[in-house]
Amino acid sequence: MRTTVGIIGAGPAGLLLARLLHNADIDSVVLECRDRGYVERRQRAGLLEQGTVDVLRTAGVGGRMDREGLRHDGIELRFARRRHRVDLSALTGGSSVMVYAQTEVCKDLIELQLRQGGPLLFEAEALAVEGATTDRPVIRFRHGGREGVLECDYVVGCDGFRGVSRTAIPAGLSRVFERTYPFAWLGILADVPPSHDELVYARHERGFALLSMRSPAVSRLYLQVPAGTDAGEWSDEAIWDELARRLETADDWTLARGPITAKSVTPMRSHVHEPMRHGRLFLAGDAAHIVPLTGAKGLNLAVGDVVTFARALIHQRRTGSGERLEAYSETCLRRVWQAERFSYEMTTLLHRAPDATPFDERIQLARLERLTASRAAEADLADGYTGLPWE
Ligand SMILES: Cc1cc2nc3c(=O)[nH]c(=O)nc-3n(C[C@H](O)[C@H](O)[C@H](O)COP(=O)(O)OP(=O)(O)OC[C@H]3O[C@@H](n4cnc5c(N)ncnc54)[C@H](O)[C@@H]3O)c2cc1C
Repeated sequence: MRTTVGIIGAGPAGLLLARLLHNADIDSVVLECRDRGYVERRQRAGLLEQGTVDVLRTAGVGGRMDREGLRHDGIELRFARRRHRVDLSALTGGSSVMVYAQTEVCKDLIELQLRQGGPLLFEAEALAVEGATTDRPVIRFRHGGREGVLECDYVVGCDGFRGVSRTAIPAGLSRVFERTYPFAWLGILADVPPSHDELVYARHERGFALLSMRSPAVSRLYLQVPAGTDAGEWSDEAIWDELARRLETADDWTLARGPITAKSVTPMRSHVHEPMRHGRLFLAGDAAHIVPLTGAKGLNLAVGDVVTFARALIHQRRTGSGERLEAYSETCLRRVWQAERFSYEMTTLLHRAPDATPFDERIQLARLERLTASRAAEADLADGYTGLPWE
């Protein structure tokens, strides 16, 4: 098999890249180790930045998102039983975010790719990337019990944090920057209409809580829990009680409860692999970086990476210049580090560190007070939340 761009992984990064290349008449092959049902059901991100929404529309895959997604113009911060709305649109000159689940983004992209796109092979596991620094890199893979070789002009590793592509960059050329937080998020999906029409970020002395949603009928809620927590340790009743405590306000707001349909624990970590390019191998999305969930930046960063790659390749095709491809890593990393900074700030603003001193707690409250009192501080939050600029 031979193709221009070999893509490893059919998460949002790999699927969107295949679509952007198809729209530019550049052929690609996507190899995905799991089956279609797994990719379409895996519960993860749900918040799309303005730039991501625009890219999906321009790529011709925004129809259902525009019909079924929920546009949000603000978020609410809660602390000391007080509520403060951050008016994202007013503070950013009209930007907003869209609540539309990653599962739905993937379903839309898969449906379009299978109907009118290059090959998308499920249950096709990439085993290794070889020859990254030659003109003809190859992906060795296993599909249907047989091993094969995909020859490419370029390989893009969109295979997530546990993928194989990152390992093709020699350790001596790699640098990893990491931070593991001493807490995790216990996330639930519940068949109950959301108790507020915008996302609520709550700082509480017992720990952080987030109220969000998937649709007008399905709520998505999270609780800060100690790292290493097993979701099975928490009964449904204990989860609702703890959410109610941490989200409580001084007014008559109440939390609606309903049947919990999914429960999982996600660790909180920051991780950046530099560089994001080695010869003709390019890393994109979670394969190169992880952000803690607080900033909702992971999927949005993945979109930024593949847009940067697609634009650079199109530029090379049109002008013969490979300079943008060569600058891929530096270009992406500038945005990645801004997202890491934003996610770190949101995380430390809202979570209770197990070793926090009374001084730390007062500082955290002072940061929140400042946010609610200063338009400049609020505008900075709104700017980062709705989306960091792309080059
Ligand atoms: C609970 C949770 C909530 C989140 N909320 C948000 C949010 O609100 N907003 C946001 O922006 N981000 C959020 N994120 C992060 C976001 O989900 C990820 O950043 C996003 O999935 C990254 O996309 P990706 O395509 O890079 O990687 P992935 O989605 O991990 O996809 C990688 C794909 O590669 C496949 N693969 C792996 N190895 C191989 C191999 N050897 N061969 C072939 N295929 C392979 C995998 O099966 C997978 O399908 C959340 C994450 C979690 C866990």
